[in-house]
Amino acid sequence: MAEVIVVGAGPVGTLLAAELARFGVDVEVLERRATAGGGSRAIGLHAPTLAALEAGGATDRILSRAVKVGRGEARSDGRTLGVVRFDRLDVRHPYVATIPQVDTEDALRGAGPEPVRGVTVSRVAPDRSRVQVETDRGGRSAPIVVFAGGVGARELVFRSDALRRTAYPDRYLMTDATVLPREDPDTAIVHLAASGVLESFPLPDGQRRFVAWDAGGSLDPAAVAGRLREAMRARGEADAAEVVTEATAFGVRRVLAPGMRRDRLFVIGDAAHEISPIGGQGLNLGLLDAATLAPLLATWLRTGAAPESDLAAWERDRLRSARLAGRMAAVNMRLGRPVSARAHAARSRVLGRALAATGTLVPHAYAMGFDAASR
Ligand SMILES: Cc1cc2nc3c(=O)[nH]c(=O)nc-3n(C[C@H](O)[C@H](O)[C@H](O)COP(=O)(O)OP(=O)(O)OC[C@H]3O[C@@H](n4cnc5c(N)ncnc54)[C@H](O)[C@@H]3O)c2cc1C
Repeated sequence: MAEVIVVGAGPVGTLLAAELARFGVDVEVLERRATAGGGSRAIGLHAPTLAALEAGGATDRILSRAVKVGRGEARSDGRTLGVVRFDRLDVRHPYVATIPQVDTEDALRGAGPEPVRGVTVSRVAPDRSRVQVETDRGGRSAPIVVFAGGVGARELVFRSDALRRTAYPDRYLMTDATVLPREDPDTAIVHLAASGVLESFPLPDGQRRFVAWDAGGSLDPAAVAGRLREAMRARGEADAAEVVTEATAFGVRRVLAPGMRRDRLFVIGDAAHEISPIGGQGLNLGLLDAATLAPLLATWLRTGAAPESDLAAWERDRLRSARLAGRMAAVNMRLGRPVSARAHAARSRVLGRALAATGTLVPHAYAMGFDAASR
């Protein structure tokens, strides 16, 4: 019988299960989707995440496929405003590793358990010595349950009015496209324009991810792709615009849980903290939740006593890191909104000076150097 049940085989649940198995814990993963994969989401893995995944071997698997992005540039009207040097950080992995989320999920699985697929959890109820889990295929229980069900099933563990929500007006268009050879293939670029931001990030196999602030309009797939092409032509990626044939549109919000633990029930990943993808830290936050929780749960099961003070410190640190990442994403979104031509010129000047004056502070912050797990 499982010592830990993990609800959700997204990247965060997958990593937690693999880490627990590595520590000798008997773990079962329940996943409602019949098959893995689906959609393109996170692409950037930061230094503390790569360091945390080393022991289980996932970092090597990720780096065998990822692009190591050592340098980012802020540009405006074809001019470089400032440079962000990840390669100058004093960390084990001085770069952002970019790789599609589906490949990250493969790498995280490693020798971890195969999830039981096609099982939807409908209720999670902690009692004194076990946690009861009800599913559409009957009930089961375990001494510890970790909920990693993402944004779609939070109501199973939190009352809706307990969550802190922030709604943002911003919408974005996104695509991953194979681009023609270019001079800056390994550079992450943020094009700042008066009409809004355009991000251009390297991916393996000659692809790049483009994300553009969107003024809104039809969600018809052809219209969405057309608006992204238009934004790319106007904001500094005219050549790449010609190869874009499809795109998706997404809105953003921030949702923070009041806590991540109730006795023997834990909540990690997007289920506990959903933040805007503009900033690229959501998946990293969840992976760091899992990597730092696994040894504490293994100790609990091995000794029979919950390491209460370590678990309290874990919860405090993870919530603080989530608040920080959420605030950073909010700053990124503010910087990328459309402004008048005059305000845009002033913004570009200030940003250029700030990047030059602050040295490694900005890359440190973007690479999650202030996350509690990077201590
Ligand atoms: C467009 C976009 C771009 C992004 N880019 C980045 C980026 O560059 N960097 C970054 O760090 N983050 C990024 N993110 C965020 C990142 O994708 C998420 O933070 C990450 O996927 C969260 O993983 P998770 O495992 O917590 O949740 P999920 O990936 O949502 O996985 C949850 C799993 O639980 C299952 N599940 C849910 N409910 C139940 C149930 N009741 N019973 C059984 N199973 C259930 C689901 O089917 C799913 O498989 C991006 C997100 C978006 C939308």
